[in-house]
Amino acid sequence: MPDCLFCKIVSGEVPSRKIYEDGDVLAFYDVTPQAPVHALVIPKKHIGDLNMLTDDEAGLVGHIFLVVRRLAKELNLTEGYRVVHNCGVHGGQTVAHLHFHLLGGREMLWPPG
Ligand code: AMP
Ligand code: ZN
Repeated sequence: MPDCLFCKIVSGEVPSRKIYEDGDVLAFYDVTPQAPVHALVIPKKHIGDLNMLTDDEAGLVGHIFLVVRRLAKELNLTEGYRVVHNCGVHGGQTVAHLHFHLLGGREMLWPPG
């Protein structure tokens, strides 16, 4: 997707602070952290959001969640963490490339607002 910010991060056209990378998934730090640890975990292929996920891509999301768990361990989020996907306008999504926020290092509030 030529105009997609996160596709540009995947290609390296836009720099990021990478934490993890494999053939299908990339994780990097959010530029505007909302917690002491705030990472974004994304598929390398362009998928707009959860609504655009196909049945074939279910395994990819499972893989992303295992990467999230691995990062939470490596980043020492021993007391817990939150994983968020903002979907669409009411979800508060601002970047239209599927991503999961990994937030930790402090106690999260609920409801999230
Ligand atoms: P969302 O609002 O759920 O779509 O999340 C998009 C996230 O991307 C926000 O938390 C932004 O701070 C973050 N973000 C925007 N631009 C960049 C960038 N160049 N590098 C890292 N994170 C970014
Ligand atoms: Zn994209």
